[in-house]
Amino acid sequence: MSAAHPHPTHPHPDYEVVIGLEVHTHLRTASKLFSPAPVAYGEPPNHSVSPVCLALPGVLPVLNRRAVELAIRAGLAVHGEIRHHSVFARKNYFYPDLPKGYQISQYEEPVIAGGWLDVVVGEGKQAGTIRMHLTRIHMEEDAGKSIHDAAIAGDATHVDLNRAGVPLLEIVSEPDMRSPAQAVAYLRTLRSVLRYIDVSDADMERGHFRCDVNISLRPHGSSELGTRTEIKNLNSFRSVEAATEAEILRQAELLDDGEPVVQATMAFDPDTGRTRVLRLKENADDYRYFPDPDLVPLVISEDDIEAVRAALPELAEARCERYQRDFGLSEYDARGLTGSRELAEFYEAAVAAAGGADRAKPIANWVLRDVQRALNDRELEIQNAPITAKALADLVVAVEAGGTTPQSARPLVAELVEKGGDPLVWIRERGLEALSDDGALGEAVDAVIAENADDVARVRAGEQKVLNFLMGQVMKRTGGKANPKAVREMLAERIGSA
Ligand code: ADP
Ligand code: MG
Repeated sequence: MSAAHPHPTHPHPDYEVVIGLEVHTHLRTASKLFSPAPVAYGEPPNHSVSPVCLALPGVLPVLNRRAVELAIRAGLAVHGEIRHHSVFARKNYFYPDLPKGYQISQYEEPVIAGGWLDVVVGEGKQAGTIRMHLTRIHMEEDAGKSIHDAAIAGDATHVDLNRAGVPLLEIVSEPDMRSPAQAVAYLRTLRSVLRYIDVSDADMERGHFRCDVNISLRPHGSSELGTRTEIKNLNSFRSVEAATEAEILRQAELLDDGEPVVQATMAFDPDTGRTRVLRLKENADDYRYFPDPDLVPLVISEDDIEAVRAALPELAEARCERYQRDFGLSEYDARGLTGSRELAEFYEAAVAAAGGADRAKPIANWVLRDVQRALNDRELEIQNAPITAKALADLVVAVEAGGTTPQSARPLVAELVEKGGDPLVWIRERGLEALSDDGALGEAVDAVIAENADDVARVRAGEQKVLNFLMGQVMKRTGGKANPKAVREMLAERIGSA
């Protein structure tokens, strides 16, 4: 980030920012949308192709049933209307990585209409939920890839058609976001929902979840939309945020100078931190959309929808409500735990292993704080980490029952995340048992009372807060191994009766 182009963390003060997002996400299917060629990643160029992907003369598209099921899944998960009748259309344009000369998409009659996502924006006590609406979701095929890399292609451009025909959902939002941070929060929520229901791995680094950001500004209080520009093909949250902030600045400067914003398609250059005009906005007319005569309309019955609904896993929202109701968690904690299905499943397995709902709150705290931190530090996700739910449960139960202390347990969590193991064995072998017997603990307590006569007097005079200070002293003396509950009781008792 260069100093010449500061990135404001707050919306421009003079204008209201309006953002709408178009997301392309790869569907998790074995084969392509209209051909039996496998969806394979990392294959040598032009290996997973069929005559349909190559657009050889005489081939006909055959719709992938699984892709339709996944589209319905996505529609149900975002509360959209699954339309009983939708139509595939040809979007015509010329590009070397598009052998047919058109992309099969949906236009006037998409498979899903409407829908919404509840998105948590802000953090901690400032967190709130905003309902962001969807316009539509439609199915389409991806194009191939043009390879301009000189190391591979020299002066030429090569074409790899492995990606041609891979099924995509395009998910179009209403212009409901009001800041770059809200746009990112929406994208995170959407990605988590798609992963949750196994519709897409939504891997941004591999380009399986790409985003076009539409941005306009308007005076505060205005209800009309300003002229928008669209930044194409952003594939990381950081680039969405940086590109959006840069474009807001560019538009604000134009408006400040009394210049109009011209509708255009923009590209973001992460090196300069600036957006630039790629081309003036094409109209839908330029694509000469028309219904694909090779494909019959897609008809989805109520029974089809119910069959997909019956196979849906419990969705994050339902799970989140259940955690608040059955486990007494805060909404914030419940959301944190249900953001990924794997994390939620790990959490529930740990609660069960620890003996049930009574342990749900302490386990939530350990997962959200220590386990998450250890995962983040190592850039791991719970499903790829060796820690087991049983091991965490054993550790938390040991802390809760006073068998060891939080101070001793904390580094063990990081170790579990890194290499797995049995924390109860570690506690025994390394002497991490909490001191709660009268012997060693009693000596430490007596010593602290003897050395801090003034503070002891203040506790006797009713200053309960000072008791915490004395507790800290005992903890220090015992190298963090004292059981806090036992220390508090013993201190209170000995000060009271001294
Ligand atoms: P297209 O398909 O040509 O890009 P759409 O009308 O389908 O155009 O809109 C695409 C996206 O742009 C949607 O997410 C929509 O919410 C958003 N959008 C439309 N108008 C504006 C605007 N004035 N400011 C910000 N976003 C907008
Ligand atoms: Mg668009």
